[in-house]
Amino acid sequence: MSTLGAVWLKATAERSLARRHPWVFSGAVTRVEGDPQPGDTVLVKGADGNGLGLAAYSPASRIRARMWTFDPAEVVDAAFVTARVAAAAERRSGLLSSGHTDSARLVFSEADGVPGLVADRYGDTIVCQLTTVGADAWREVLADALFALPGVECVYERSDADVREREGLQARVGLMRGRAPSPDLVANEGGFRFAVEVEGGHKTGFYLDQRDAREAVAQWAPGRSVLNVFSYTGAFSVIAAKSGASSVTSIDSSGPALAVAARNGELNGVDVGELIEGDAFTTLRGLRDRAKQYDLILLDPPKLANSEQQLDKASRAYKDLNLLAAKLLAPGGVLLTWSCSGAMSMDLFQKVVAGAALDAGRNGAGRELRIIGRLHQPSDHPVPLSFPEAEYLKGLILQAP
Ligand code: SAH
Repeated sequence: MSTLGAVWLKATAERSLARRHPWVFSGAVTRVEGDPQPGDTVLVKGADGNGLGLAAYSPASRIRARMWTFDPAEVVDAAFVTARVAAAAERRSGLLSSGHTDSARLVFSEADGVPGLVADRYGDTIVCQLTTVGADAWREVLADALFALPGVECVYERSDADVREREGLQARVGLMRGRAPSPDLVANEGGFRFAVEVEGGHKTGFYLDQRDAREAVAQWAPGRSVLNVFSYTGAFSVIAAKSGASSVTSIDSSGPALAVAARNGELNGVDVGELIEGDAFTTLRGLRDRAKQYDLILLDPPKLANSEQQLDKASRAYKDLNLLAAKLLAPGGVLLTWSCSGAMSMDLFQKVVAGAALDAGRNGAGRELRIIGRLHQPSDHPVPLSFPEAEYLKGLILQAP
């Protein structure tokens, strides 16, 4: 067996691993033994040299190593990695055989024991993202493991997320296994059909993480005038229209996304309503100035805080948006508002929205919005108790008096 390199940790850093947290930060490392290359498996050693587990080494990243296993006697090889992928996919088999959907996140990185791999399945097609050198080192094995899953005809790579830069990796996009992705690929969910933009879309082409929210929209839309802000390809808009909304207006800065929204309307046999291409902040101010009112507002901005350092600035932007939404909300209206910034906790998000509601009232009286529900990322985006960082998407359902 080849000798593994090793990283030695400060005694104080061992506690985090004892709690099964999968990250070793650069500041925790006192010494690197051997000559491990990016992505190599290293033995993680405590201050007195005891083995704590095996990790993927990433010399360029602040997260210097990501744990594969907390058992130093295990062997990280192709069989190990393949088994992790298969087990993650198996955990979604209930969801995928429920009849509700043919699309799900099969592998959610650390949350599934495969750091750096996100793999989303849409019918017979898997779109994956490799975001760390550790995952990149197992690129071919991961592609084989995904292609070996039952019924998979295509594995496509969308490794173009910014986070790759932090790992010293270039973007990589293209077919990995099987046939090219169909230009007509759709996610079938809850009787709806949503176009999946494999090659040109955001992330892996569709926001699987808003699955539970799509059910909430169907529940709240009937009879209501709906404003869908940051609509992307209009999944919420289509559902609202089909569920009997009295009107639907969608806002997004991306023309191509709105073009897909129109196509999604056609795919589902509904008029998707008014599509406004523009900046959400400016457009909402314009609607406010015209004293527009909506019975249901959906506010799903992109990630506004990439790190804790950006939280202050992001909080101001979230506050601005929610303030405008609160003003546009008709009496008795419902606001579904989200933050997908992992750095922002539900607690902080709720405080920011509370501040916005307070400022939204005329004469300083505030606007008494009540929480009537909360929304989270769905079951195929699990959050290990030992790795709360996996939680990123949180939302509030608020009702105006
Ligand atoms: N709600 C969507 C996902 C939203 S993703 C769904 O369920 O599918 C965030 C969207 O915000 C993207 O479509 C992006 O184009 C859009 N966006 C980003 N910045 C924007 C801005 N300043 N104004 C309007 N749209 C913006």
